[in-house]
Amino acid sequence: MKVAIVGAGLTGSLLACYLARRGLTVTLYERRPDPRVATADRGRSINLAISERGLDALRRIGLDTTVMADALPMKGRMIHAVTGALDFQQYSASGDRAINSISRGALNNALLTAASAAPGVSVEFEHRLCELDSAAGRMVFQTPSGKVSVAADIVLGADGAGSAVREQLLAEGIVAEDVDFLDYGYKELSIPAVDGEFALDPGALHIWPRGTSMMIALPNPDRSFTCTLFWPAGSFDALTTAEAIIGYFGEHYPDVLPLAPDLVDDYLHNPVGVLGTVHTLPWQAHGRTGLIGDAAHAIVPFYGQGANCAFEDVVELDRCLDDTGGSWARALPLFEARRRENTEAIADMALNNFIEMRDKVASPVFRLTKQVEHTLERLLPGRYVSRYELVAFSTTPYAEVQRRVHRQHQYVGLAAAGLALVALRLLRRLR
Ligand code: FAD
Repeated sequence: MKVAIVGAGLTGSLLACYLARRGLTVTLYERRPDPRVATADRGRSINLAISERGLDALRRIGLDTTVMADALPMKGRMIHAVTGALDFQQYSASGDRAINSISRGALNNALLTAASAAPGVSVEFEHRLCELDSAAGRMVFQTPSGKVSVAADIVLGADGAGSAVREQLLAEGIVAEDVDFLDYGYKELSIPAVDGEFALDPGALHIWPRGTSMMIALPNPDRSFTCTLFWPAGSFDALTTAEAIIGYFGEHYPDVLPLAPDLVDDYLHNPVGVLGTVHTLPWQAHGRTGLIGDAAHAIVPFYGQGANCAFEDVVELDRCLDDTGGSWARALPLFEARRRENTEAIADMALNNFIEMRDKVASPVFRLTKQVEHTLERLLPGRYVSRYELVAFSTTPYAEVQRRVHRQHQYVGLAAAGLALVALRLLRRLR
């Protein structure tokens, strides 16, 4: 049984490790040169927050310690007001749970190294999929020395949001896709270390909520921070000179200005990335070609769950192979049936969290709500659990998280109404 995985990103590399344990012969085809020897694209470093779902997938195959060795724990969000005032909001009721900042490149390299070392796995770099016959498992790759044709029993598209495998299935009339682009773009900036130390608290994910836009910053092992601006599409073009950039940041992000000596260079030269949600139906064809990770269901990054969700995909596909006695023809549809409502749920929650991050986190009402939530969690341990806690610190299926949170809100609403009624009666008696 020969399996071809198109894309040696986070999903493809982890999937190769899992499939190798099943004794399968796996070839990873990656369009880029080996990232462990090539230099990264400018302004595309992308820091990820890896939380319980991602860790669980790594833990199951003993990769969590090595792969996450350089990750930095962040126990809460640090809100930066325009005045420069700081407000730390812990993520969990106990205050000790953390999400982990790691660069996508470092994570990818560690997973690639693990995949390359796994028995039966080989990696072909500089192989860009350009043609696919999904029924026959035949693929054509563009390589530096021309086109190469190969065949495999199983073809898995782990080639990201702009998946070529998905495009080929679309061209064959097998899948339908719907890509909802967000009306926002993102751009990276950097805050270097100051005298060898972090310029901001490294134990937090920093947020500068500014109503319709925001900036975030995550710590790196070299004691720098990678910042990401999420601004309405087109608004980046409004600042074209050093003076305009400095003036704007001085007004809206005054505490960042003295910490970002490369601000103007970063702003003018780093690219603007696009963001969107990918919906695909179905995720598989002929029981031998499938989509996984961002290729099947890319989401916006505001819950920090894209990679976590993709890693969960890998665990579920592996489980489906177990449950079907290794039959890909049954495992691929089963995988889709089990995962779809969950990936739709996190896509929805990620979009809603954007409004929370860029706007609500700064409001006193939001802060009070979080305090009430944490109090309820302490008073009713295991019975009341916040949405954030369930998403980031558990492996409860995303769709179940949505249902449970809905139920909890109904109970709290009823309890609050009951309390208000009792208070009203007491007041009447007192009068
Ligand atoms: P990718 O990482 O896109 O990998 C796809 C691979 O396929 C690449 O190596 C690519 O070169 C290769 N490829 C593409 N086309 C071809 C082809 N034709 N032939 C061969 N190879 C090909 N997720 C989190 O969990 N937490 C976060 O905090 C978080 N923050 C994010 C912040 C930003 C700004 C963004 C944009 C994303 C963030 N994500 C986060 C999401 C996360 O990056 C993705 O979900 C994750 O990278 C998906 O992995 P993947 O392997 O499916 O796709």
